[in-house]
Amino acid sequence: MDDCIFCKIRDGEMDTEFIYEDDQLMVFADINAQAPVHLLVVPKEHIPSILDVEDYNLVGRVHQVAVELAEERELEDGFRIVNNCGPEGGQTVNHLHFHLLGGRQLQWPPG
Ligand code: C5P
Repeated sequence: MDDCIFCKIRDGEMDTEFIYEDDQLMVFADINAQAPVHLLVVPKEHIPSILDVEDYNLVGRVHQVAVELAEERELEDGFRIVNNCGPEGGQTVNHLHFHLLGGRQLQWPPG
């Protein structure tokens, strides 16, 4: 997608440091961090939202990588993996991604 910011990041057009990368996924720090640890785990393929996922193994792999990163960042007291879907779900970038948040007491319910 030409105008997708995460596609631009994937294609190296944004000077973003990848914390993790493999054939399917890239991970980078959220530009507007909401917690001491706030990473985005992003499939490289342009999938607009969770509603468009065809192979749910991808979602399992996202969670596996997120948990590995949570362990690496020593978030043993807890963390959150979040996917916002659609306008009412708070999705602002229409390229599937999962937030890994931790390092502070997270509140519930979210806003
Ligand atoms: O779930 P949502 O779609 O709102 O999340 C998009 C996230 O992407 C935001 O947390 C925003 O800060 C982040 N972002 C980023 N780098 C950009 C544009 C957005 O980390 N260049």
